[in-house]
Amino acid sequence: GFRDFLLKPELLRAVVDCGFEHPSEVQHECIPQAILGMDVICQAKSGMGKTAVFVLSSLHQLEAKEGQVGAIVLCHTRELAFQINNEFERFSRYLPDVKVKVFYGGVPVPEHKRILKSECPHIIVGTPGRILQLVREKDLVTKNVKHFILDECDKMLEKLDMRGDVQEIFKSTPHEKQVMMFSATLSSEMRTVCKKFMQAAAARTYGAPPAVVEAGSWRPPSACQRSNDFPPSCRRTDDFVLPAAVGRQRSRARCCCARPHAQAAALRPSPGSLRCCSPPRPPAHPPASAILWLRNTLWVGGTTWSAAEAPM
Ligand code: ADP
Repeated sequence: GFRDFLLKPELLRAVVDCGFEHPSEVQHECIPQAILGMDVICQAKSGMGKTAVFVLSSLHQLEAKEGQVGAIVLCHTRELAFQINNEFERFSRYLPDVKVKVFYGGVPVPEHKRILKSECPHIIVGTPGRILQLVREKDLVTKNVKHFILDECDKMLEKLDMRGDVQEIFKSTPHEKQVMMFSATLSSEMRTVCKKFMQAAAARTYGAPPAVVEAGSWRPPSACQRSNDFPPSCRRTDDFVLPAAVGRQRSRARCCCARPHAQAAALRPSPGSLRCCSPPRPPAHPPASAILWLRNTLWVGGTTWSAAEAPM
């Protein structure tokens, strides 16, 4: 259940209030990776619960600092922005310090400027045109953004003008950030475009401290503490104590990204290309993105993939 994710208690409470009993398949696959700050590209059919993945994971990780925008969520229509904002409001019900606002065209710009000045939100949901305008006019300061999220990313990236807006916003944010992209359908062309955002992310990850590799995934050591030191290679879940970065409870926890070895092996795209358990040592250059293809049974959360190698 959602309890296994070790979300903040305030979030768990909201999840229960919303009537979510069990994570959907996409949530089960993506939330563990997303709450550890990994980049995620997630393709799954509409209605599978992708929104809760980024809403919960960004709320879980967010440090609400006065006057600082920590997360930007972009989507292609006002209606979707409005709905996403509603989801943030639902799930942040017990996080009174967290402010979320939605900005899109059609609302007078001065109103958004006023909000940014007087009650600066920690999370902004919006459409690319309006967000870019606010960035260009320096009302929206993006230097503290740690989570950059594109919902229905294909819809934004396939329109060249909107893609340009997204890229400009992206470039205004710090290099060090989590990038998450969600879509119901990604053509091969769009996959290439998405990879560009992820390649930028991969570049920043290279040279980071050695990653802890686990069941085809990795997490930076800062996100995972054991009583002695980090495992030299993949360990089964119960060895881990997940610290504050993951959840408040310092209890022995089921590893967030483990799946039974046999199952992982069955889903491997090709033999030897993805080592799910017990690789000889952690990769020197951990992949920056977890790439999850759901319902197509190809699951890649590779230890050895680089973005360029991924079978996209
Ligand atoms: P997607 O973004 O994949 O199209 P949504 O996130 O909009 O899907 O979810 C579709 C509906 O399912 C929403 O009404 C949402 O509240 C609900 N939902 C999502 N996850 C769960 C869950 N784990 N349990 C119950 N309802 C859920």
